[in-house]
Amino acid sequence: MGKIGGFLKHAREESPERDPRERIGDHREFLRRLPLVELRSQGARCMECGVPFCHHGCPLGNLIPEWNDLVYRDRWSEAIVQLHRTNNFPELTGRLCPAPCEAACVLEIDEGNAVTIKQIEAAIVDRAWEEGWIAAQPPDTRTGRSVAVIGSGPAGLACAQQLNRRGHSVTVYERDEAGGGLVRFGVPDFKIEKWVVERRLEQLAAEGVEFRYGVDVGADVDADEVRSLHDAVVIATGARVPRDLRVPGRELDGVHFALEYLYQRNRFVAGALPPERPITATGKSVVVIGGGDTGADCIGQAHRERAASVTQIELLGEPPPRRADDVTPWPRWPMKLRTSYALKEGGDRDFAISTTELAGRDGRVESIHWLRNAGVPPFEPIAGTEEQHPAELVLLAMGFLGPEPAVLDQLEVERDERGNARARAFATSTDGVFAAGDARRGQSLVVWAIDEGRRCASAVDDWLLAGEASPLATAAGSG
Ligand SMILES: Cc1cc2nc3c(=O)[nH]c(=O)nc-3n(C[C@H](O)[C@H](O)[C@H](O)COP(=O)(O)OP(=O)(O)OC[C@H]3O[C@@H](n4cnc5c(N)ncnc54)[C@H](O)[C@@H]3O)c2cc1C
Ligand code: SF4
Repeated sequence: MGKIGGFLKHAREESPERDPRERIGDHREFLRRLPLVELRSQGARCMECGVPFCHHGCPLGNLIPEWNDLVYRDRWSEAIVQLHRTNNFPELTGRLCPAPCEAACVLEIDEGNAVTIKQIEAAIVDRAWEEGWIAAQPPDTRTGRSVAVIGSGPAGLACAQQLNRRGHSVTVYERDEAGGGLVRFGVPDFKIEKWVVERRLEQLAAEGVEFRYGVDVGADVDADEVRSLHDAVVIATGARVPRDLRVPGRELDGVHFALEYLYQRNRFVAGALPPERPITATGKSVVVIGGGDTGADCIGQAHRERAASVTQIELLGEPPPRRADDVTPWPRWPMKLRTSYALKEGGDRDFAISTTELAGRDGRVESIHWLRNAGVPPFEPIAGTEEQHPAELVLLAMGFLGPEPAVLDQLEVERDERGNARARAFATSTDGVFAAGDARRGQSLVVWAIDEGRRCASAVDDWLLAGEASPLATAAGSG
C-alpha cells in the first residue's frame, strides 16, 4: 500500500488551519486541506504494514490502506467507492472525527508521525462531490416494509440510508426544523458548514427517504402511534439530558446549558431571527465549565461574539503532555493533553477545579467561586485554594446523562444501568423497536453514531425479513 519507503521521503503534513485572528471574524470552516498533489504524497506515506492497525482504530473499520493507496495512485473516483463501502458520511468524519485511526497507525509508534488519514478522507469525499461522483442510489425494488427512524442525527441518517437502500420505506421523524442532529445544531459552522450536511440530506431524500421535520415524538405525536404506523421503529434520539451543576446560584440568569447556547448560535448563523431572550457572550466574562468538544465549541462561539474574556475549567487534573505508555500504550487512544482549536483562538483554561458557588446581583450571575481539587476521583478539595472570578455568562458543558425519557417510556423500552436504551444487537426489550447511536451507547462520537446506524440497519433488515421477535423480548418471555 502507498509507496514503499514513502514515509521516509515525505514528512507528515497536518491539515492547514486558518489564522486564528482572521477566522474568529466569521463562521466559515477553520480547517483547510493540502493541495491534491501534496495529499498524494501524504497517501504515499502509508507503508505496506504486514498487519495494519489503523482500521482497527477506526470504529467503522474503514479500509484505510486501500484508499490511501488509491489516492497515491491518483485514482480518486475508486477511492470514494472504497470509502463509501464502510462510511455513509465521510464528509462528517473527515471534518469532525478525533481520528483514533491515526493514534493506531503504525507510524504513530514514533509519536506525531501518523499518516494524515482524516485529512485524506475529507479530501476524497469533497473531491467526489465536486466531480459529481456522488449521486442518489434509490433501490430498484421496494420490500413493502416500513420503518420509522426517530431522530436525524448521524446515527438516524446512516440507519435510514442503509434501510432505504435495502428497499424498505423509511420515514425520519425529527423535532428540529432541519436534519443532522448535533452535527447541525450543536457543532458550529466553523467546524462543519451546514451546506455539507444539507447536501447529504438531499441525497437521502432523492433516494426516497421521507423526512418529517418539526415532529417531537412523545409530545406532538405518541410514540405508540408512530409504532403502529410502521413495521419497525429505530430510536436514534441522541443522549440529550445534560449533566447539571448542583451549587448555590445555579438558578441565576446567565447560567445555561451549553446546548441552549449552541442551538441559538447555530440557528442565528443559519439566518433565523434571534429568540425573545437571546443568550449572548458579547462583551462578557464567559466561563465554560467542562473541557470536552462541547466546551470547546462554546469557546469558539464566544470568541466570534467578541466576549471580553473566556475561561474554561475542568474538574479532572491536567493529563500528561505525551502518550503515557503504561496507561494507554500504542495502538490505544492516548490520554494526553490536547489543546482545542478554540483555545488556539484565545482564552485560558484550568484543571482540577471544583465549582462551589455562582454569585450575582439582581438575579444575574456575576462571579464564580471555586476550589482546587486533587485532580482524580473523588476530587478531594484542597483547603485554602478558594478563588473567585468574574463570570457574566456561565455555560455548563459537563457531559450528557442519556436519552430523554418520553419516547423510551411510551414504547416501554428497558434502560441499562447508565439510563440508555438497553439493546442487544440493537433490538430493545420491545418487539420491533431498535435503538442506535448516543441513545443506546451514551454520549459519544459521530464515527460511532454512523457505525451504530449502519449495524442497527442490518439488524432491522434481518428482523423484518425473517419476521423474528426481538432477542430481548424472547429472553424476557422465556424467563
Ligand atoms: C457541542 C457538541 C460538539 C460535538 N463535537 C463533536 C466532534 O467534533 N466530533 C465528534 O465525533 N463528535 C462530536 N460530538 C458528539 C456527536 O455530535 C454525537 O455523538 C452524535 O451527533 C450522536 O449522534 P446521534 O445520531 O446518536 O444523536 P444526535 O446527533 O443527538 O441526534 C439526535 C436527533 O434526534 C432528535 N430527537 C430527539 N428526541 C426526539 C423526539 N422525541 N422526536 C423527534 N426527534 C427527536 C434530535 O433533535 C436530533 O436531531 C459533539 C457533541 C456536541 C454536543
Ligand atoms: S472515521 Fe475517524 S477513525 Fe475512521 S478513518 Fe475516518 S478519521 Fe479515522
